Amino acid sequence: MNKNRLLHLKDGKINDDRKYVLYWMQQSQRVHYNHALNHAIKMANLYQLPLVCLFVLDDTYPEANERSYAFMLEGLKEVKLLLEKLGINFIFKLGKPEEVIKTFLKDAQALIMDRGYLRHQRAWRKKIYQFIKDDESITIDMIDTDLIVPVHIASQKVEYGAYTLRPKLKKIFLEYRDFSKLEVLNNKSVLNIKSDHDLNDINALLNQINIDKSVKKSLYYHGGYSFASKLFSIFISDKSDDYPESSDPSKDVTSLMSMYLHFGQISSLELLERLFLALNQGQIKGDSFDQYIEQLLVRRELAFNFVFYQENYDRFESMTESWAYQTMKAHELDHKEYLYDIHDYESFKTHDIYFNAAMKQMVITGYMHNYMRMYWAKKIIEWSPSFEVAYKNTLYLNNKYFIDGRDPNSYTGVAWCFGKHDRAWTERTIFGKLRYMNDKGLERKFNIMSYVEKMNEL
Ligand SMILES: Cc1cc2nc3c(=O)[nH]c(=O)nc-3n(C[C@H](O)[C@H](O)[C@H](O)COP(=O)(O)OP(=O)(O)OC[C@H]3O[C@@H](n4cnc5c(N)ncnc54)[C@H](O)[C@@H]3O)c2cc1C
Repeated sequence: MNKNRLLHLKDGKINDDRKYVLYWMQQSQRVHYNHALNHAIKMANLYQLPLVCLFVLDDTYPEANERSYAFMLEGLKEVKLLLEKLGINFIFKLGKPEEVIKTFLKDAQALIMDRGYLRHQRAWRKKIYQFIKDDESITIDMIDTDLIVPVHIASQKVEYGAYTLRPKLKKIFLEYRDFSKLEVLNNKSVLNIKSDHDLNDINALLNQINIDKSVKKSLYYHGGYSFASKLFSIFISDKSDDYPESSDPSKDVTSLMSMYLHFGQISSLELLERLFLALNQGQIKGDSFDQYIEQLLVRRELAFNFVFYQENYDRFESMTESWAYQTMKAHELDHKEYLYDIHDYESFKTHDIYFNAAMKQMVITGYMHNYMRMYWAKKIIEWSPSFEVAYKNTLYLNNKYFIDGRDPNSYTGVAWCFGKHDRAWTERTIFGKLRYMNDKGLERKFNIMSYVEKMNEL
């Protein structure tokens, strides 16, 4: 592992009363290509102790609902089975992470955490550290295993756009091809610690917990590493040749990895390694390879740069650039021909068939094609009483329905529609200098009716 992934927070003295090494799995919910898990195994071997992998399900997690929990639990069920085969104790608990973890720390010789970049994820880790920092016996390490290049290494400031981050990433990303294989755990003792649920019956668990059940689980996408891995193989074999045309919503040629990446069910580094392998074996063309890396490495890691360095990345007042605020102010009173609200969007009742089709894809399946996400958000700007209402409604719908919602990419994707990481365009009504998109563009560039027909069949 590249040493820059490791944040060594504290050394602990060996204490014979400690019973295990504790690995708190949160952001990166997988076994494959998991640097944090690998480090936890190494630490357990160092102390000759068993390893406990703890997952805490917080039923008050911001904006989560049945759809997102179902997808996550499907992934965790698989993680549990794999970890148990490796001799690792997997414990599933319900509650607030910072509270539940406290009860495990008194028996832990070391605490290993993966890294999460959203505000609440950072707050959890900080609280846990504050609680335990004076315990002389415990070692605490935090590991980045969600990105190819850890965010603070790629850049030390909020970047203007892909063009400023790209050269920085391209210079060093090969140094982060740093995973070979998972260590073998020596002490495989099974500890007598009870989980709150065995994850065998996910529907029963979903019924038991107090979550928003208004957004039902997707019948189209299923969580877990196995699904992610299979879909990525299909991407390489059947879709990647057409990836340079992936901006066309009528073509199904993207990888569908975003929801798996969001829950850490597959690692972006694994995707990168599989792309290199496919390139070397002639299974993927050079331009498809380059364009995929642009999305997976540059665009995705730019989003993490945004949420890490931009304070209040999810508030209207602080999510975009000053030129964008100026132009929005200048156009806040422009006349709008159509005004719609959340209910109109959710019931597919606007006058725009393309927008309604995109909403269907979102509400029914939990996913939307990238080009339609842009079009969709731009229309909400056009039909809202103010830019601020448009921002709030876009983010609300994004995080309510997308399986990949509540991600650094969610806040960045929505902010992009309000000028973040974009440039000023020719001034026009309503949008000012924000980039404008219209239905004529969709009709000119794509066979957009075939997208509409597909969505109407859902
Ligand atoms: C308004 C708006 C909202 C968005 N909301 C989200 C969201 O909630 N969650 C989310 O993960 N993405 C979001 N995106 C980014 C992008 O639309 C999705 O990541 C992409 O459509 C996922 O599909 P895929 O995995 O098949 O993409 P592929 O084309 O197969 O790309 C592979 C991976 O590259 C990354 N990627 C692709 N496109 C982008 C992009 N434009 N920006 C950053 N990373 C990208 C993703 O991790 C993706 O999984 C949003 C974009 C916009 C414009």
